[in-house]
Amino acid sequence: MEQHSFSYKEELINYILIRRGQRNIRIGVRDGVVRVSAPFTVPLAQIEGFVDVKAGEIVKLLRQHTPAARLLSGAQIMYMGEWYELKVIKSESANSVDEVSKNLVIFTDEPENYEKNQDIYIDFLRKRGQILFAELAAELYPLIEPMGAPFPKLKLRRMISRWGSCVPANNSITFNVFLMAAPIEAIKYVVLHELLHLVFNNHKPEFWQALGELMPDYERHKDYLNEQLRPEVVVQIDNAYI
Ligand SMILES: [Zn+2]
Repeated sequence: MEQHSFSYKEELINYILIRRGQRNIRIGVRDGVVRVSAPFTVPLAQIEGFVDVKAGEIVKLLRQHTPAARLLSGAQIMYMGEWYELKVIKSESANSVDEVSKNLVIFTDEPENYEKNQDIYIDFLRKRGQILFAELAAELYPLIEPMGAPFPKLKLRRMISRWGSCVPANNSITFNVFLMAAPIEAIKYVVLHELLHLVFNNHKPEFWQALGELMPDYERHKDYLNEQLRPEVVVQIDNAYI
């Protein structure tokens, strides 16, 4: 298995390439991860070309099968590191989300429309995220301030394969709204990671060393976010193929 990536509308999307004894190139999504399998004999350039042609379709498939895909009543969903049961309640007046003990409740005029539920839920994550990420950035910024970076502009976006990104030239950091699924410690790790990119615009050893000095247990959060959380925030994980 090798890790590769392609870009689609400014977004870098990772995929796993698997070589197998088969005739054709196949593209699928499993547990929110793009998997491309190809015959041993097909050159990498040809596979990459095929993936580029299919980029739009792959992204569509990912959107249907990644975080918050099937938000219907009864779904289990992770929010801030805790599992909630989703309840969707018909209401003519409001499209909103409330936390009620261990339930997340979506009020909507179309309870069976899971795509609309998803939009309402993402809107909720965005509102909560704007507040939380601003608070955490303000809390952690003093750690990197002595290194000379100005306080960044913060943005929130729905992203498929990254938890955050930083563009030091624009002094801006973008967080993935789905990061709101993670426990607060893991969210702090991403905030600090992106803040530190204002100083080190790469993942060279100096970057990780500086991060380790500021947050000695960062690897725990990094591993969790890279290996465990992604499939677990998915509601009703299933397999799909183009
Ligand atoms: Zn990074």
